[in-house]
Formats: sequence, C-alpha cells, structure tokens
Amino acid sequence: MNFELTSEQQAMRDAVRVTVERELQPILSGHDEQDILPKEQYLKLLGVLARHRLTAPRLPVAAGGAGLTMLDYGIVFEQLPPQIGMNLLSHEGCVARIYMECSASQKARLLPDLIAARKIGCTGSTEPDTGSDPRGVKTRLVREGGALRLYGRKMWITNASVCDVMIVTCLDARTDKRNGDVIKVLVEREKSPFESREIKTIGLQQGYLGEAVFDGCVVPEDNLIESKQGGTTILKQTWNVNRPLVGLQAVYLAQEAFDIALEYSKLRKAFGKVIAGHQLIQKNLSDMATAIQASRLLCYSALAQVDRGAPAEGASAMAKRFAQNSCEKVVWEAMNILGALGLSSEARLERMYRDARMLSIPDGTNELLALIHARELTGVAAFRDARPSQSAATDH
Ligand SMILES: Cc1cc2nc3c(=O)[nH]c(=O)nc-3n(C[C@H](O)[C@H](O)[C@H](O)COP(=O)(O)OP(=O)(O)OC[C@H]3O[C@@H](n4cnc5c(N)ncnc54)[C@H](O)[C@@H]3O)c2cc1C
Repeated sequence: MNFELTSEQQAMRDAVRVTVERELQPILSGHDEQDILPKEQYLKLLGVLARHRLTAPRLPVAAGGAGLTMLDYGIVFEQLPPQIGMNLLSHEGCVARIYMECSASQKARLLPDLIAARKIGCTGSTEPDTGSDPRGVKTRLVREGGALRLYGRKMWITNASVCDVMIVTCLDARTDKRNGDVIKVLVEREKSPFESREIKTIGLQQGYLGEAVFDGCVVPEDNLIESKQGGTTILKQTWNVNRPLVGLQAVYLAQEAFDIALEYSKLRKAFGKVIAGHQLIQKNLSDMATAIQASRLLCYSALAQVDRGAPAEGASAMAKRFAQNSCEKVVWEAMNILGALGLSSEARLERMYRDARMLSIPDGTNELLALIHARELTGVAAFRDARPSQSAATDH
C-alpha cells in the first residue's frame, strides 16, 4: 500500500490545476456567479476538458477516451470546481453509458461529437414523482401510428436545458407484453425536440439543472438502447464511480474553505495574538484537516476498489456520504473562523456552503447511501427486498 501519488499522477493533477487556473476559472469568473453560464461558454469549457480527454475519461484510448484508471480520474476530478465537475460528470457519464450500452452504429453516430465537446450529453432518470426509487418512473415509450413516442417528465436533470443528447429511462409500453419493463432510449434533441427549463437552486448556480418535458416526442426506432451489459457491470462503472467523484467535489470545497480559514487565522488578531494561536481554533483546524484527509482517502480507496474489480457499493456510498457531511462541517467551521466576514459573499465561504448543500442529493441521497452501505454490512436490504434483473441497470 502506497499513499504517495506517483510522479505520473502528480503530473496529471498539476496539469489540470494549471488548466483550471488559466483557462477554466476565467470563464467562470467572467460570468455572474448566481446565473447559468451561456451555452457557448459551457461548450468552450467542455472543449478545454476535451483536450485533456476528460469528456471520455472512462473510455479506452482506442475508443477515443483517456483510458484512465478510476483512481487517476478521481485525482484529476478533485481539481475541478464543482460548478464544472457536476456538469462534466453528467456529460461524460452519458458518454460512458453510450460506450457501455449502445450499439456500434449508435456509438459511431454519437460519440465523436460528444467526446469532442461539439455536443452535450446527459442522463435523465429522476422524475417529479420519483428519484431515489428509479423503478417508480412513469415516463412511457408508446407506439402510435407506426412511430415511437415518449410521454413524461424528467426533473432535476443536470444539463437538461442545454443537452443535445439525453439517455432517458422509461417504461416500455410499446406492446401489452412489454408494458412495465424499464428501458432506456437515446433522445437526440435535433431529431426529437422537447421542452426544457432551468430550475433555480441554492447552489452550483452557474451549472445547469432542469426539467425536460416529453409530450409525444417522436423517437426513431434505432434510438432504443438494447444493452448487452448486465446491470452489475453498469453499476460498477457508473454509481460506484460517480459517488466517490461527487465526494471529491466535496473535498474540493472543503479544502478551499480550509485554506481560506487557515490563512485568515494566521493574520487575524484577538486578545493580543493571532487567532491561530488560540487553542480552540487550533483544535477546529485540526478537526477540519482530519475530515478533509479522511474524505479524500475514502474516495480514493473506493475508486481503487473499482479499479481492482472488488465489490465497491458500500465503499463508494460510504465515501460520498462521509465526504459530503464533512464538507458541510468544514465550510461551516471555516465561516466561524472568519467571524462576521465568513458570512459575507466577499469571503466566498457562503457560496461554498450553498454549493456543498447541493452535493447531498445527486447519485444517492445521504439516507440512501447509508442504507446501501449497511446493506453490504448486514446482508439485509432495508429499502428493497428483491432485485428483478429487468431493473438492475437502473437500481442503486
Ligand atoms: C445537483 C443535482 C444533480 C442531479 N442530476 C441528476 C441527473 O443528471 N439525472 C437524474 O436522473 N437525476 C439527477 N438528480 C436528481 C437526484 O438523483 C434525485 O434528486 C435523488 O435521487 C433523490 O430523489 P428525490 O429528489 O426525488 O428525493 P426522494 O427519492 O423523493 O427522497 C426524498 C427524501 O426521502 C428520503 N428517502 C427516500 N427513500 C428512503 C428510504 N428508503 N429510507 C430513508 N429515506 C428515504 C431521501 O433520502 C430524501 O431525503 C440530480 C439532483 C441534484 C440535486
């Protein structure tokens, strides 16, 4: 076991840090912090990430991807501001799913533009009436007069308002026999237009989170996804990776907040000395640094487990939940260390606090993650008894 990054990992991490500083942060800073980026700016941003092959980190090099291990991807992903990371995760998650689940012709048609960041992708599972329980989806694919049509709404979908391609989870209602099977279809916006809207939220406000409405949206027959992969394989390569990645977004925020608090504590004086010299401040700084390092290592360890092919459902759930909880505590404590200044938008901590709050929900709420972890510990499922194979690809 080696806790040091290799020289290659350090080089990758440093290269992405420089890119963030020189190319990505200026795009974010050039726009209102509380409003979504214009789509052309987002495409520019994705274009920069595409240069680092981060629009397809999970694909092998031969398929146009970066061929990264998931641990290496995590190390790099941790360097990205969460306003970027969350939307990248949606985009590259769509790329990974198309690569894993789609036919050769679907891949050939869609992947080049998505990988090159000429088009934007996302995945729509959550609906107004169901989120944690994907088997509750109501969106239906029906056959009407020879055409396949999609009816339903997808809600809280990252990239929904700007996407060109959405992988939509829905019920197959093409025939009575199939009624109720959960399937996925590719909705290409140019061919199958649909309405969408942005939803204003507490944090990550430069990114996109919205609703898509499919009101008889015509979907070409060859956009059905006939996945050959089993649910377990997809689970390993999506949820088990996404959760520690979201955890690393929490680590990014916590580290940023900690750095601000540490710096401030060495400058601010109270009762005749810098506050860094007061014992309670030192204890708080120690707690914060411990929580950040523990979060980072849990996330790295879960990703390394995925790379080794070891069961990682519990580890990835534990990592994300711990990192998100820790992040909220660290940012809160950092705000305290700055006193009244910590509450001002000038100090940037209040934005981090709002952004951190967003991370507790996607890719499994903290409650669901605890249940997933405990299911592995106990062997008893508290939230679902049986796991029929038809739904396994969408299950937690
Ligand atoms: C920033 C962000 C990005 C997102 N991106 C996407 C995306 O790209 N694609 C997509 O499809 N969705 C996306 N989502 C939606 C997200 O996946 C869902 O919001 C999430 O799964 C929770 O679903 P819900 O909001 O419907 O809450 P519900 O499932 O209705 O849960 C409500 C509450 O009940 C709790 N709960 C539910 N079941 C149990 C149980 N068995 N035991 C104990 N507590 C329980 C939950 O933890 C939660 O506190 C995103 C959400 C956010 C915030």
